[in-house]
Amino acid sequence: MSDRVAIYPGSFDPPTNGHLDIVERSARLFDRVVVGVGRNLAKKTVFTADERIALMREACAKHPNVQVQAFDGLQVDFAKSVGAAFIIRGIRALSDFEFEFEMGNMNRRLAPGIEMVYLMTAPEYLFLSASRVKELVAFGAPVDAYVPPNVAKRLRAQMGKQGLRTGATEAND
Ligand code: ADP
Repeated sequence: MSDRVAIYPGSFDPPTNGHLDIVERSARLFDRVVVGVGRNLAKKTVFTADERIALMREACAKHPNVQVQAFDGLQVDFAKSVGAAFIIRGIRALSDFEFEFEMGNMNRRLAPGIEMVYLMTAPEYLFLSASRVKELVAFGAPVDAYVPPNVAKRLRAQMGKQGLRTGATEAND
């Protein structure tokens, strides 16, 4: 039987423990998981694509079957390009559901052979979003409980340099 390959696409601006929980659980479910870091996103990001990729790569390094790559364009095209038959998304609240339901249905129309897989957030990450993390950092609050150590370090360094333009109001994540 061929390998079961999945993509986990997102903006990851920055990666949080909620994202990493989804990565870890996906790594157990699939033979190979390719995390797709969106490069040309409609929403403004605090970190460049290269920075988001580097942070995600470091945070996923302990999973041998997880790779991190940049992607542009449609999720289904990215899935096809890496030979994935599954697209993983995380769901926190009803608001996530509506958005994901719409996107999932569009993906199904575009590529009926690709299955969407939704993993429910772990309760401890229910209220965790990259936007809230950026907001906390902007107000000088510690974020070590919400992001992996490499991201916390990077956020502190960024704050020290020029402060953090949170983009929290634009980025609805
Ligand atoms: P996007 O801009 O594509 O929504 P994000 O980086 O915001 O990218 O999120 C990527 C995926 O991870 C989405 O499916 C999102 O719902 C999910 N996600 C984000 N935060 C959490 C969390 N705390 N718990 C579970 N899933 C999450």
